[in-house]
Amino acid sequence: MASRESDDRSAKVKLPAIKFTKLFIDGQFVDAVSGRVFDTIDPRTEEVIAQIAEGDKADVDLAVKAARAAFDHGPWPQMSGSERGRLLMKFADLIDQNADELATLEALDAGRLLTLTKCIDIPCTADCLRYYAGAADKIHGETLKMPQAMLGHTWREPVGVAGLIVPWNFPSFLLFACLAPALAAGCTVVVKPAEQASLNALYNAHLAKLAGIPDGVLNVITGFGPTAGAAIASHMDVDKISFTGSTEVGRSIMEAAARSNLKSVTLELGGKSPLIIFDDADVDMAVDLARTAIFFNKGEACMAGSRALVQEAIYDEFVRKSIVKAKEWVVGDPFEPHVNQGPQIDRKQFEKVLAYIEHGKREGATLLTGGRACGEKGFYIEPTIFADVEDDMMIAKDEIFGPVLCIMKFKSMEEGIAKANKSSYGLAAGVVTKDLNVANTVARSIKAGMVLINCYHMGAFDCPFGGYKMSGFGRTFGLHGLDNFLQVKSVVTPLFNSPWH
Ligand code: ADP
Repeated sequence: MASRESDDRSAKVKLPAIKFTKLFIDGQFVDAVSGRVFDTIDPRTEEVIAQIAEGDKADVDLAVKAARAAFDHGPWPQMSGSERGRLLMKFADLIDQNADELATLEALDAGRLLTLTKCIDIPCTADCLRYYAGAADKIHGETLKMPQAMLGHTWREPVGVAGLIVPWNFPSFLLFACLAPALAAGCTVVVKPAEQASLNALYNAHLAKLAGIPDGVLNVITGFGPTAGAAIASHMDVDKISFTGSTEVGRSIMEAAARSNLKSVTLELGGKSPLIIFDDADVDMAVDLARTAIFFNKGEACMAGSRALVQEAIYDEFVRKSIVKAKEWVVGDPFEPHVNQGPQIDRKQFEKVLAYIEHGKREGATLLTGGRACGEKGFYIEPTIFADVEDDMMIAKDEIFGPVLCIMKFKSMEEGIAKANKSSYGLAAGVVTKDLNVANTVARSIKAGMVLINCYHMGAFDCPFGGYKMSGFGRTFGLHGLDNFLQVKSVVTPLFNSPWH
């Protein structure tokens, strides 16, 4: 059985000192106006890691004022793209130089595997900065041959002050997915990290300052969603919101934007992504892929492949092998290199996942393996698999955001596609088959922003990512990501022989 590793092991890991716990406004670390702080918790032990400044509307006002001044009067949007790019490259180098500390902090704060934060997340944040640093001097407009002897051209200008509201599941990576293009575009920003995992956003603010990014360009307000986050979303002087998180909060952000200054919004929201496995698949490979698709990052991934749709001829074999593979998946301290799955982020999420599991049992799905919390303390949950899941069950429809796989059976390709699309979400989908025609037909028919063929959890900085349907709109990464922070101005002038001349 998947087991919780011994608690003494975590004691051996040398944890870094927590250096940055205050708000970062106009280039300074400051206390919240209210003087309030909140606890950030180690999800392995439920113990307090540090107390962090609890920003709210008053602090957001100060941060927006600093960002506005830096945008309207500061050098950042005015400087050449290559100069901005140079500073962003320096920022990336500083991340590399501090990578061990950043990786350890992220594993501690979010209960994420240290091997992942070290080898993937933190190096990726630096590379994401480099990708957009390289794009900063390639922001070009168009020239237009207009009728009536007019000449037109377009400029692509930064949208202004951007509010970046970030979730806790990949705290650094998802911060940089919006921060890097926003800065490259010439915007100034107010970042609101998730209250569950704020430490690296503050650390990165310190590195940005060391890199020479001018004061006021990057501000970080730690605190809670309904106070600090909502104040950013409804602020009259914020021009743009980039939000990654739940569909429910995304809706409230859009409402706040509509009621305030009609700021533009990019939303990267939830998912209930299908992995469609056809009869011709190598079953062992499909089982491995399905396991990674759902249990990677303890199921706390917006694109998690939480519905495995399996064609009937291999269904029984797939189910049998999936149980064995789930039992081999090691749950334990995320600082241990052989562990596959750490604790859920916090008590709320932990209880929510367990409640869904109970609901799945009551709905009549068959619990094949897992289903329980593990360990005496910390938010650990066994990798859990349900079979005989029907489309209308709550566990098949809702985003659980935990290590819970729903296996469902289909007969024909058409039925598989119909089941895959039977979701209010449309973030990602996977297809496993050796038949290229089947793969391409499915890819065309799926209503999702990303389709992965014979792989899962793949992507790159030049690969746009985002949702169809209630998974949001707008695309992160690639030059689409940069476009989110730019607006187009058309400039028109008459030529000498124009009637207007
Ligand atoms: P999750 O469901 O993954 O916890 P949320 O959507 O609740 O994600 O949170 C993602 C981010 O949105 C966090 O930074 C959180 O503080 C923030 N947030 C939560 N509620 C609001 C709100 N009403 N307005 C603005 N931001 C919010």
